[in-house]
Amino acid sequence: MTAPTHTADAWAVILAAGAGARLARALEAAGEPRRKQYLELDGAPLFWKSARTLARIQEVRGLVFVFPPEDLDRMAEAVRELDASEPLGLPRRVCAGGARRQDSVRLGLAELPPGCARVLVHDAARPFASAALARRVLAALAEGAQAAIPGVPVTDTIKLVDAAETVVQTPERAKLRAVQTPQGFALAPLRAAHARAEAEGWDATDDAMLMERAGHRVRIVPGEEANVKLTTPADLALLHPRAAATTPPGPRMGWGYDVHRYLAPGEADPKVLAKARPMLLGGVAIPGAPQVLAHSDGDTLLHALTDALLGIACAGDIGQLFPDTDQANENMPSAVFVAEALRRARAAGYRPVHADLTVIAQTPRLGPHKARMAAQIAHLLELPAEAVNVKATTEEGLGFTGEKRGLKAVAVVTALPA
Ligand code: MG
Repeated sequence: MTAPTHTADAWAVILAAGAGARLARALEAAGEPRRKQYLELDGAPLFWKSARTLARIQEVRGLVFVFPPEDLDRMAEAVRELDASEPLGLPRRVCAGGARRQDSVRLGLAELPPGCARVLVHDAARPFASAALARRVLAALAEGAQAAIPGVPVTDTIKLVDAAETVVQTPERAKLRAVQTPQGFALAPLRAAHARAEAEGWDATDDAMLMERAGHRVRIVPGEEANVKLTTPADLALLHPRAAATTPPGPRMGWGYDVHRYLAPGEADPKVLAKARPMLLGGVAIPGAPQVLAHSDGDTLLHALTDALLGIACAGDIGQLFPDTDQANENMPSAVFVAEALRRARAAGYRPVHADLTVIAQTPRLGPHKARMAAQIAHLLELPAEAVNVKATTEEGLGFTGEKRGLKAVAVVTALPA
């Protein structure tokens, strides 16, 4: 009989028996004592995610799940419930695994029914394997391979070391492949290889290794970069990539607030007098206004605007960026602060689309200057004039603004992903 007539008789063995030692320890430390193959992806345990994928393949006629012996009853029930709520339409069997991976595979193979000629062996810790990948493996078997496994070129240089951590050899990278699961095999030679391993005490980290040792040729088919094995706690982030990839970044709103004191009438301290600046708001000179005390040019409105832009960039605040202890910032035009904060917002991937600003001061009267301030800020933000609004208000004689000892300004900037 020719090989292709057997291709329909394939089963898949899904290994969920590994202790996942490193990950399990990390999870337990975090108060989450679950084994890694029971972690969830798309609302189901990892082993079920693999079962869904493999069940979509026409040639796959049944599934064997291998669980840790101590979890078997509980997991058999879980599989029953999952299959009841989301039937895969295939016969399924559940069995207990062994101490090593190869023991678990051997026990899983023992569950396969008569008539099963080929098997896919898959690690539940590789939930991202695609159906297309499994089909490539089965196609290689259909073409006559006894063993077919997915492999990807390695990007790291791999060193062979001895017990003293001294490099013994550097294999040529172009000839190396990192191999994955599902691995596909003709069942009879795989069973025979496992039997020999058992009888002769072989240790193997995958089934292909046993087939090699038993003298079979193992064919590599193209693997998938995304088909990673979840091994470390950092890998858990991979369980939620879909949300990250498909949720577009939303708009951001930055808020800024600033206060400056006025030069008090009759002030005589030369240090204070040295900090007095003619009032600038939004880059516009306000003639006849009280002088403002500042290290920079004292433009309260542009300082609030700068902080709003830094809020969009999540880049801290103006004091961090331009400390007033830095001589370089002495008398600095505040437009420079705005330009730098705008650059940072853009570098963070956001494009400001609207700014709404308010100056709070008892004096001077700002009504006549609002339009020019808005126009100047629109210019700084490279926005149309109608996208910027400047308001002015008093605090009814209350507080430091009411007492004409200073002024404050607030700014809100809205930005969209660039
Ligand atoms: Mg300031």
